[in-house]
Amino acid sequence: MRNLKKPPWLKKRIPPFQDLLKVKSILDEADLHTVCEEARCPNLGECFSRGTSTFLILGRVCTRDCGFCAVEHGVPISPDETEPEKVAQVVKKMGLQYVVITSVTRDDLPDGGAPLFAKTIQAIRALDSNIKIEVLIPDFQGKHSSLEIVLKECPDVLNHNIETVARLYPVVRPQAAYQRSLDLLRRSKEDYPHIPTKSGFMLGLGETHEEVLELLRDLREVGCDFLTIGQYLQPRPDRLSVVRFIPPEEFDEYKRVGHEMGFKAVASGPFVRSSFHASQMFENPKI
Ligand code: SF4
Repeated sequence: MRNLKKPPWLKKRIPPFQDLLKVKSILDEADLHTVCEEARCPNLGECFSRGTSTFLILGRVCTRDCGFCAVEHGVPISPDETEPEKVAQVVKKMGLQYVVITSVTRDDLPDGGAPLFAKTIQAIRALDSNIKIEVLIPDFQGKHSSLEIVLKECPDVLNHNIETVARLYPVVRPQAAYQRSLDLLRRSKEDYPHIPTKSGFMLGLGETHEEVLELLRDLREVGCDFLTIGQYLQPRPDRLSVVRFIPPEEFDEYKRVGHEMGFKAVASGPFVRSSFHASQMFENPKI
């Protein structure tokens, strides 16, 4: 497919290089990965320069190969059992008060790596129980036992991205299932109603307006509280092409509709990503 020319609203200011390098060197020293770098997030500079990042645990190689994702795909190495402590130490060093923990999908592990999420939450709280922790989890192949391992630690936010509309799953998330992701969010809300749930998706992959409305209704139906909507940007030439650049006014309209449907917070805009301004969404839901 022919590459679309980026519209003017997708131009970004480059943040100060020194701030960016400082965060990067702390992470490199601890041999930790961030989804910001692995997924080539367009907000990396801005987040790093503000001293925030989303920690990627369970390695940097994913067992799945989603059509939009830049994370390396293949056979991962065994989980690093010292990773939770390393993450906690870096969180302390960076002075973070709100942390997002995510992982690649580990279909090779019977428990999907859920215990490492739990241990990372424990390690951070052991250092400072006031730090807020959001987990952005994979679908654990629908295993409730794995979800329970994470929920038992009572993260401050349980995030799981639905990523796109149901019809596009075979090309966008071929190894995932739309209903399975909805079930995970529903289960979390049913079993731990006090933990806010969050999800997000991208626009620009070929979805229709009606399909987006249906997706919003489905997320509300499973009790999802917080929502992020952003523009899909092709991270590498071998990844799915952008079908359409969505104008900012359309993002505003979905935000309005989302609030009307009952989401507690909706971040919707071309550069919105799952963890972008996550702490503001948690602390001030009326964004
Ligand atoms: S499961 Fe997550 S990390 Fe793995 S390819 Fe898909 S989006 Fe990327």
